[in-house]
Amino acid sequence: MAIRMRVHVAGIVQGVGFRPFVYRQAVARGLAGHVRNLGDAGVEIEVEGPSEAVRDFLRALREKAPPLAELSGLKSEELPPRGEAEFRILKSKPGGEGGGTIPPDIAICEPCLADIADRKSRYFGYWATSCTDCGPRFTVIESLPYDRPRTSMRDFPMCEDCRREYEDPLDRRYHAQTIACPACGPRLLYLEGGRELPGDPIDLAAAALKAGKIVAIKGIGGTHLACDATREEVVAELRRRLGRPGQPFALMAPLSLAKKFARCREEDERLLRSPRRPIMVLPKRGEGLAPSVAPGLHTVGFMLPYSGLHHLLFRQVDFPLVMTSANFPGRPMLIENEQILSELAGVADGFLLHDRRIVARCDDSVVRWAGGKPVFLRRSRGWVPQPIALDLGEVPLLALGAELNVTFALYHRGKVFLSQHIGNVEHLETEAFLREAIEHFLAITGAPWPEVVACDLHPGFSTTRLAEELGEEVIRVQHHLAHVAGLAGEHGLSQVVGIAVDGYGYGEDGTAWGGEVILWREGEWRRAGSLLPVPMPGGDLATLRPGRMAASFLLAAGLDPREGGLGERELAVVARQIERGINCPLTSSAGRFLDAVAAWLGICRERTYEGEPAMRLEAAASWGEPAPLEPVIREQGGRLVVDTVALFRELHRLRAGGASVSDVAATAQAALARGLARLAIQVAKGEGVGAVGLTGGAAVNDALATVVREEAERAGFRYVQHERVPPGDGGLSFGQLTQGAYTIAKQDFA
Ligand code: ZN
Ligand code: ZN
Ligand code: FE
Repeated sequence: MAIRMRVHVAGIVQGVGFRPFVYRQAVARGLAGHVRNLGDAGVEIEVEGPSEAVRDFLRALREKAPPLAELSGLKSEELPPRGEAEFRILKSKPGGEGGGTIPPDIAICEPCLADIADRKSRYFGYWATSCTDCGPRFTVIESLPYDRPRTSMRDFPMCEDCRREYEDPLDRRYHAQTIACPACGPRLLYLEGGRELPGDPIDLAAAALKAGKIVAIKGIGGTHLACDATREEVVAELRRRLGRPGQPFALMAPLSLAKKFARCREEDERLLRSPRRPIMVLPKRGEGLAPSVAPGLHTVGFMLPYSGLHHLLFRQVDFPLVMTSANFPGRPMLIENEQILSELAGVADGFLLHDRRIVARCDDSVVRWAGGKPVFLRRSRGWVPQPIALDLGEVPLLALGAELNVTFALYHRGKVFLSQHIGNVEHLETEAFLREAIEHFLAITGAPWPEVVACDLHPGFSTTRLAEELGEEVIRVQHHLAHVAGLAGEHGLSQVVGIAVDGYGYGEDGTAWGGEVILWREGEWRRAGSLLPVPMPGGDLATLRPGRMAASFLLAAGLDPREGGLGERELAVVARQIERGINCPLTSSAGRFLDAVAAWLGICRERTYEGEPAMRLEAAASWGEPAPLEPVIREQGGRLVVDTVALFRELHRLRAGGASVSDVAATAQAALARGLARLAIQVAKGEGVGAVGLTGGAAVNDALATVVREEAERAGFRYVQHERVPPGDGGLSFGQLTQGAYTIAKQDFA
């Protein structure tokens, strides 16, 4: 018996190949009806045929949906049959298209991989094979609506065969805007010494990598520098040429190979294999990797091959590859062939390039586990520009972040679009990229130019100046307030006590904050507690030279400051700066406390990249056991403080009593987290707030997050941490938006 059903599907069902998928499922079962895009409201399907086939179709909707589709609601109702014979894809309702339907770039799918491997397929060995289920999106699209002429694929007119598949609703490549084949699509080329070499570019690149050369590889949304990750002399040479002595390099390898070098649990594997293909930070395993891959760390970042190009390379290469973004520290990734060739002339020996333009660069995303959940170190490829649903009112907003690891965030009609990783906006090139990326986002989201722009409180940041330039109205948000507001926004909380464990943020009193407990209620806030402020001798210099922070803590604790590892001269200067209060601001930063411990323990005395001392401390601590140390909490200056100087003294006693460096490192982390957690719990109890949360750059530290979580839950509070945006400054713009929206709402009432 024939029945007819109307099905309404909500969730992420647009721009992910969902309608062609529905069409194929219906036609394969001989069903009639239609599918139609309803814009923000989702997709409507009407389907008619034998009841068994209709039910089977409904099952397939859930079970076989395209990799990027996320079905959040599936409501169906029965209608009287109409006796239709055909299934059609109807035109969208007016206003149905647009508004954040651009998907992120995702990894090549299994059927496309099979095409590449199939000698009889016309895609055999073709590096840029893709379909409606996979391939680049965000990085090739110039503007809405998403159609080939508005992508960088317009430079490659389709051949007859591609055209036929593109127009066939039953084909996997029906309306796949990135469809391309060896006959019509973008081509690879391999260069050495400024000349293109004859031969297969992938063979040539693979041979160069095997020979220990460094190869620049232009990929889907960016460029990598690649080399053999098992050969120390090769990796060390890459570090020397890049001027990047310590910052860990990400690696790429197929799963079976990656597992030889990193411990990988089932839940890691699931994330690694997801079509978003992030870099996962995993514990190192064995001794096979070059020590220079991640000096002094117990972890290593791995990602799986995510494009046809990568898979073809790994057919010939049987070792893991360093795959690090091709940029100089803090600057944007190079994406134009001319620039890649000229700027990397002294870095790469060979160049594997192609002739497709990258419209928007997008670095790899980085994920690790902390506090029992995956957290973002960087949210970029695979996620951007997928919006985060959040109702912040009617007013469109733009937020620009702080200065390091900048992302911006754009709010329009219930959606927050968080940008790709931009970089350190202290450099001119990075600021140019920021401006360009804002324009691109406006073009692909259809959002209006926001009149209200939120930024950091720091007067010297270039993002603050840019906000003044772009915004009719500017809302300045204190750094850690933004971190905490983001936590509230992400979890839909009306009140929370947020712990920000962070590096540096400009405080309301002009001092350097960074270990804060903030009581937040619907946009109202109070600095309820912090770490004890200590002198930061030399200001920013104390960040670069953690030995200065060690000396500061040792002096404050009445201990021998020479144990911080500074030379006699520098120590004398530091002592004078502290004594006379010259060039010596106060800081309550958790990062600076961890720096001091790392320097004092001899783990890291020279910082070569942001967060290095704390990361090395975490590595040392991973081999140790924390002692049960109870930090002192007391009142000072109208708020509660965790006495980090007393804590430092206790750590010193522990070490003097024979505890190992690893045990003391583990104790320092755990005690710091416990102190802040206890303080936050005390505030939450007093104020009747039910949720305690953790945010800030150091919140990616698993030991810190785990302790705060355990303390909060044991005391009966709900514990929250960031799940959809990075806890570090890569998520700051999201928090600025949240806080900005509350500020606007209050103005409306006034
Ligand atoms: Zn595919
Ligand atoms: Zn073609
Ligand atoms: Fe921060």
